[in-house]
Amino acid sequence: SKLRVGLLFGGRSGEHEVSIISARGIANALSAEENSHKYEIMPFYIQKDGFWQAGEVAQQVLTSGVAKEHPGNRANLWQFPPQTAEIDLWFPILHGPNGEDGTIQALLTLMQVPFVGSGVLGSATGMDKIAMKTAFAQAGLPQVKYKALTRAQIWSNPCVFPKLCDEIEATLGYPYFVKPANLGSSVGIAKVQSRQELEAALDNAATYDRRIIVEAGVVAREVECAVLGNDNPKASVIGEITFDSDFYDYETKYTQGKADLFIPAHLPESAVQQIQEKALQAFTAVDAAGLARVDFFYVEATGEILINEINTLPGFTSTSMYPQLWANTGISFPKLVDQLIQLAMERHSN
Ligand code: ADP
Ligand code: MG
Ligand code: MG
Repeated sequence: SKLRVGLLFGGRSGEHEVSIISARGIANALSAEENSHKYEIMPFYIQKDGFWQAGEVAQQVLTSGVAKEHPGNRANLWQFPPQTAEIDLWFPILHGPNGEDGTIQALLTLMQVPFVGSGVLGSATGMDKIAMKTAFAQAGLPQVKYKALTRAQIWSNPCVFPKLCDEIEATLGYPYFVKPANLGSSVGIAKVQSRQELEAALDNAATYDRRIIVEAGVVAREVECAVLGNDNPKASVIGEITFDSDFYDYETKYTQGKADLFIPAHLPESAVQQIQEKALQAFTAVDAAGLARVDFFYVEATGEILINEINTLPGFTSTSMYPQLWANTGISFPKLVDQLIQLAMERHSN
């Protein structure tokens, strides 16, 4: 009989819509002829308010690609659809908070059913840019200089805040990137050139998250590497993203035609090898599993390679970097989802 795969998408996150499109990509790949005899897809849609929908409502969102909301009663928030009990394996494809950060992974762990991707630790460490950078530093991975802050520090009494900014200015040179620690898709990120912009950006970032990071800005090419596996992960060919905007912000990421992907990236062979090696080290450093996309800055003038971040549930639409990197490495989209499911089973039984 077929393995019943619970495709979990949507979610309480700013990347809700992207998740729906990613789920469509995976559903298509699972329906490919080589997979359709093995897997039965059961869609589970998490509304923006956190309520779960299965059956026809979920299928309709998946097919149409359009978010939906059936207002639920808070008292029933923990009543999952009855189909939940029939699932053999979960395939969560939720981006950002409440999905990529270990919260859903904790729930699925408690359900005692295998699931695709990283567990609680890998997801949480990969999501929080401060925890992530601490793990990378420990692994000896080169990265930009940064300073970690809290909302409490930023919103503290007005005498402390200027000292905080002085301290940042004393350790890092402009421009800076100010980021909420636990988001994705460039939400809440600002590039700042002056003290005035720094103050405004810190205040704004603090509205998104309790934890904030300020990084030294670099001028570099942006290259990405896909990783697949558990304890013996493999690295893909390298891809590059190019765009005309000042940085890879939300609009550039999600407006058709504003960014281009090049696979494989034109890089010296030694750079390719170093990036692949560092991608695997990063995967292990945060305790990722199954899949991750590791993003780097390549400083062309010096050949320097700096790790930017790891994404444990990267975009998964048919045009997304992660599946395209594997397609270019010889693993088609249908083969990729099949391998991810096998890796989830292998991890569960270990
Ligand atoms: P997200 O997790 O939201 O993708 P990133 O940390 O990857 O956040 O930052 C988004 C984008 O901002 C990057 O792809 C890059 O274009 C730009 N950026 C972020 N940090 C830096 C930095 N330190 N120097 C230069 N550009 C940066
Ligand atoms: Mg990210
Ligand atoms: Mg990024």
